Amino acid sequence: MKLEDPRAEEALKDAEQARERAYAPYSHFKMGAAVVTDRNAVVPGSLIENVSLGLAMCAERAALFGTVSTDAGKPEVLAIVAPRTGGELTWPCGACLQVALELGGPDLLIVASDGSQTEQARLRELAPNLPFKGER
Ligand SMILES: [Zn+2]
Repeated sequence: MKLEDPRAEEALKDAEQARERAYAPYSHFKMGAAVVTDRNAVVPGSLIENVSLGLAMCAERAALFGTVSTDAGKPEVLAIVAPRTGGELTWPCGACLQVALELGGPDLLIVASDGSQTEQARLRELAPNLPFKGER
C-alpha cells in the first residue's frame, strides 16, 4: 500500500529495530514503535515488561514519551511493528491512543505492520471521541 507520509517507511524500519530490542520475557509479544516528529526526528520505543506485570510499558508510549524527553517536536507519524492480535494487525491500545492524541493531535498518522502487511489510519479515525484539549 502507498503510505500517506513518505517518512513512514523509515519509521517502520526503526520500529522493526525497536521491536528486536523489546524486553518481553513474559508475553514474548515483541513490539516496537517509532515516532516521526515535525522536525523529522525519529524516536524509537520498545515494549518493556516487568516481573510485576502491570508495570509493562507499550512500545508506542515509550516512543511518544521519548519525543518529550528529547525535545524532538510534535509527533506526526507513529509506526508500530508487532505480531498480529486475534488474527488482525495490532493497533495501539486505548491508553496509547490517548497519549498520542495529547502529543500528536487527531491528524497523527498511525501505521501498523506485522512485518509483511501494513495498514494506516489517522488517529481521528481510530479514536474519534477521546478527551482532547485542542482543536479537532
Ligand atoms: Zn498501548
